[in-house]
Amino acid sequence: MCGIVGISDHPEASKLAYLGLYALQHRGEEAAGIVSYDGKDVHIVKDRGLVVDIFDAKTLESLKGSVAIAHTRYSTTGSSNKKNCQPFLVTHRNRALAVAHNGNLTNTEELYHRLEEDGSIFQTSMDSEIIVHLLAKAPNAEHKKWFVNVLSQLKGAFSLVFMIEGAIVGARDPQGFRPLVLGKLGNGYILASESCALDLTKAEFVREIDPGEVVIIRGDKIDSFYLPGSEKEKKAHCIFENIYFARPDSTIFNDNVYLVRKRLGAQLAKEAPAKGADFVMPIPDSGVYAALGYAQELGLPYEMGMIRNHYVGRTFTQPTQFLRDFRVRVKLNPMREVIAGKKIIVVEDSIVRGTTSRSRIREIRAAGAKEIHMRISCPPIVSPCFYGIDFPSKEELIANEKTIAEIAKFIEVDSLSYLSLDGMLSVMKDSKAFCHACFTGKYPVLVPGNTSKYVLEGVKK
Ligand code: AMP
Repeated sequence: MCGIVGISDHPEASKLAYLGLYALQHRGEEAAGIVSYDGKDVHIVKDRGLVVDIFDAKTLESLKGSVAIAHTRYSTTGSSNKKNCQPFLVTHRNRALAVAHNGNLTNTEELYHRLEEDGSIFQTSMDSEIIVHLLAKAPNAEHKKWFVNVLSQLKGAFSLVFMIEGAIVGARDPQGFRPLVLGKLGNGYILASESCALDLTKAEFVREIDPGEVVIIRGDKIDSFYLPGSEKEKKAHCIFENIYFARPDSTIFNDNVYLVRKRLGAQLAKEAPAKGADFVMPIPDSGVYAALGYAQELGLPYEMGMIRNHYVGRTFTQPTQFLRDFRVRVKLNPMREVIAGKKIIVVEDSIVRGTTSRSRIREIRAAGAKEIHMRISCPPIVSPCFYGIDFPSKEELIANEKTIAEIAKFIEVDSLSYLSLDGMLSVMKDSKAFCHACFTGKYPVLVPGNTSKYVLEGVKK
């Protein structure tokens, strides 16, 4: 998880980067930062917190220059060290170099040890810092050779933006795990994790950066090239971006996320219809679009049986047991007037640990539902993600421990059905171009640690 933005050749570069971050806030609420360059000096502001809390008119004014890169961070570990905020900025060979990274590298340990043996001193625990050390260690060369040399050493998931003096550089791993799109913005360009950032900045969508592609953008000039051998690699876009993570108004992996979610819901309706249901309702917001597709496919009424309070972020803290007991209702309020006495289909995008779903279902039951039939718009999640989605360990994934009947019992529903793997893939434009390791345990790229525990599909050892 994480959102990244790069702006080239625009007099208000940092302000546009800020807007881009605003659109990408859902990709990470832990910390955010912007680095800009004014032709002479580099400026940086980064901190923990939401985009809206970190930047104000004064800080944005201090971020001078016509190039900028930006990052919004999702912390995958408990420690929210300020040092780990991005973009990561260093000065090397008298030039400033900044990087913002989305994705998880899978050969971090190997690179880390090699670099440490070679004298590198690390300041953070971010894999992005490794990339900077590799750039510093690589022989001085013109930009193209330099980036090919360094990026070819990385394995796993990386969508990256760099700022190097007046240029911005965008790069995507050969599998294309995480999205990265390119837009035209006045005389210059914008790079962003998702197209919703282009919409907000009024940029014109140009295209996605291809898997394995590197673009160096100076002003209005783009130099594009590919990492050697990347064209032979099988594509492995993260299907969970489509299911849950990306914004529904984004177009990524050549498809609109809203429409994909509706198709997932429609396919789910074909595979697991519900006889005699009074209506279909989503768990907001995650289940909204799949529920719509489900209801439309079966011609069933669609109701918003739970209303969301939009002023509660994902970060609602529960400092005491007394407050913890209100945690579910603070975000979603079930409506007795709609729910009581009804036979309901509840659609949700996914189940990870099962605990949130159980609380939601209890609330719906308490509002008087007669029957609750739950439908999930993806298959059971059974394996962790090594490429950037924050799933817990195998042991904490409920579908890894329990059968579907046992999960239904745990979350207290009258019936439970998941979308099949084939059904999920059948609604994708290119069903062969996706990573589905979280559902199948088949990993398309080397995973860290004990690889014998995992099935590596097509991975060159
Ligand atoms: P639960 O019932 O506790 O498994 O929570 C399910 C809800 O959390 C669904 O809306 C999921 O989409 C959402 N969710 C998505 N990704 C994650 C994640 N990485 N960790 C936890 N919950 C997630």
